[in-house]
Amino acid sequence: MSQQNDGCIFCAIVAGRAPARVLEENDTTLAFLDIFPITRGHALAIPKRHYQDIRDLPADELASTAAMAQRLAGVAFRDLGADGVNLFQSNGALAFQTVFHFHIHVLPRYQGDGFSIAFGRNPGDPAVLDEDLGRYRVGLRTVAD
Ligand code: 5GP
Ligand code: ZN
Repeated sequence: MSQQNDGCIFCAIVAGRAPARVLEENDTTLAFLDIFPITRGHALAIPKRHYQDIRDLPADELASTAAMAQRLAGVAFRDLGADGVNLFQSNGALAFQTVFHFHIHVLPRYQGDGFSIAFGRNPGDPAVLDEDLGRYRVGLRTVAD
């Protein structure tokens, strides 16, 4: 498949040059188990083509990758005994991205699995919220659908 990146481990998995426990694939998308699972059944859904992050991939490939993640999440609930599922998707090293080929984590959650993320939950400053609202609205006018 075109648009592969030589140094990318996920491209190597797509090409069959690196091993993976593949769960499912179709023309555009591949799903496999994460080799360093945070919880039982931790899986990844990726586009087969190499895109670095959320900014790069076409919306239809995002949709097919998300649909794959949705299928995995359903099976995690139904067949792996998950009590919940988180979908995670990281862009940029600061946001914990370590493999720079777009992917969605499907993280089955279980009672007492010990995983937690601390979200800040202080009320937003109205002036700052309004400033961010303005930035988004101005920016969105310049982004193609
Ligand atoms: P990120 O931190 O970029 O959001 O997630 C990358 C994920 O890829 C990590 O959870 C990591 O465990 C997983 N990973 C890294 N290398 C490999 C590999 O060679 N095979 C598999 N199956 N997963 C990998
Ligand atoms: Zn890649």
